[in-house]
Amino acid sequence: MALYTARSMHTASAMNDIPRNNPGLAPPLDLCDPLLASRFDNSFVRELPADPLQHDVPRPVRNACYSRAKPSSVVAPKLLAWADAVGDLLGLVRPESATGLAAQVLGGNHVLPGMQPYAARYGGHQFGNWAGQLGDGRALTLVELIGPDGQRRELQLKGAGRTPYSRRGDGRAVLRSSVREFICSEAMHYLGVPTTRALSLVATGESVERDMFYDGNPEEEPGAIVCRVAPSFVRFGNFEILAANEELVELKRLADYVITTHYPELGPPSADVYARWFEEICRRSAVMVAGWMRVGFVHGVMNTDNMSILGLTMDYGPYGWLEGYDLGWTPNTTDAEGRRYCFGRQPEIAQWNLLRLAGALSPLIPDRADLEVGIDTFGRVYGECSRRVMGDKLGLLDFNAEDDALAEDLIEALHGDETDMTLLFRHLADVPIAAVDDSALVAPLRPAFYGDSDGAHLLAWLHRYVDRLRSDNEAPAARRARMNRTNPKYVARNYLAQLAIDALAAGDSSVITRLLAVLERPYDEQPEHEDLAARRPEWARHKAGCSALSCSS
Ligand code: AMP
Ligand code: MG
Repeated sequence: MALYTARSMHTASAMNDIPRNNPGLAPPLDLCDPLLASRFDNSFVRELPADPLQHDVPRPVRNACYSRAKPSSVVAPKLLAWADAVGDLLGLVRPESATGLAAQVLGGNHVLPGMQPYAARYGGHQFGNWAGQLGDGRALTLVELIGPDGQRRELQLKGAGRTPYSRRGDGRAVLRSSVREFICSEAMHYLGVPTTRALSLVATGESVERDMFYDGNPEEEPGAIVCRVAPSFVRFGNFEILAANEELVELKRLADYVITTHYPELGPPSADVYARWFEEICRRSAVMVAGWMRVGFVHGVMNTDNMSILGLTMDYGPYGWLEGYDLGWTPNTTDAEGRRYCFGRQPEIAQWNLLRLAGALSPLIPDRADLEVGIDTFGRVYGECSRRVMGDKLGLLDFNAEDDALAEDLIEALHGDETDMTLLFRHLADVPIAAVDDSALVAPLRPAFYGDSDGAHLLAWLHRYVDRLRSDNEAPAARRARMNRTNPKYVARNYLAQLAIDALAAGDSSVITRLLAVLERPYDEQPEHEDLAARRPEWARHKAGCSALSCSS
């Protein structure tokens, strides 16, 4: 499987970007407007088997897809951020007050009439091992909201208190991890990578105790709650837990629900439809991971409980953005030794996860050959995406067999000296193809080099590259435009998210506001925001949150 990039589909991320059919018929409403209740639905709760018990004491749950659970109230919910574009998708207007009723709802203090909150039951393979029951230990779906485009989307609070799946956790989330989830899920959307979204960020006014470095020194940190938004937050693990406990009636009910609700184009569930559904999940997962590889995103915890059944990037934890191009890089300190979830292994791990899903769905798809078709589809689609996108990243008109070697050799050369992935690809578009002089060739790439590198490690490759470009005979401006649509200028660099967190913790929301606005147009030159496109400053190299992150959140 080719290791390099792939194009995420600007058009195929349709689930995140559905055009409105009849905006006139459904005017935007305030979250707390009683009229909004007519757009609420609770299909997951209505159609799937519930845990008969109704208390939040952690316990194994059986023969159920979810447990009813209420958010626990917090002292002083205050709205810190709101994504207008997500509000538009949902038909919601931005709340006027940061501390009004909307903040009470999004902070978990008030459940609106028509909402039937629940925590989903799921299991998962963590770091390659079956971990048994996990479930929404701190997330709660409040309701499904039908947007002006007719699409159903869950509103899910993350950090809203304990549920039967909380195990030893407190059900809460800290501000830093909530800000990171908010920023990154929105940034991914605008990069054209399929993802869950974020509507709001609410400070709870309470502190949460976390041992960030796992070194026995817990500290009090500000708590927060993100309202996440996606058509569904069902994961591979929701199926795995049912299969592992041989709850086959429930397994079929969940599969039928997901197909009829979220894959209606496949038709009514049947043996054949289950197989085509699995294949489609594999295809979507390939597109998603190819998108990650294109933009330099490392998820950090690709456990099967963090893999969306809709092929969306989800559960933003100790993720990171590649700075120096290094296939072995992982942002997750828990993974520092094994590097199971490092950048270069993401395609392989996604496929491993799909094999676990295949195992869980095998009672519905008994013919092994059908499952193999799906797994093969993953490899084929990932390969096609990678090659097409590497062609676009390099600005080649036709990515032919020989170009494979050109791409592989670039990646090899990048390991020579620390070279910023985002800046390198962005500035490749500026390399003068008429130049034969070494210094002219390398000059546009200088912003990408860390330390005192002069780019010598790339010279031999650059000569081959411009030779190859010349053979295309394409007008430089056209090539540059094409490359700039594939190679983002602005990504949610780890240290930028940390600056936004530090400012917000000090009561300053201007940093996150500016960052979010810039990340809405990641492919555009935004000269007034050039500083946000710069390579990571040296002070951030080993600073907590800027380089490596623990799972503590
Ligand atoms: P994650 O590593 O965030 O994907 O979470 C793995 C599992 O741990 C999921 O079941 C989460 O719901 C649960 N979990 C993580 N943090 C907490 C917490 N603070 N309280 C309760 N459950 C948690
Ligand atoms: Mg998770």
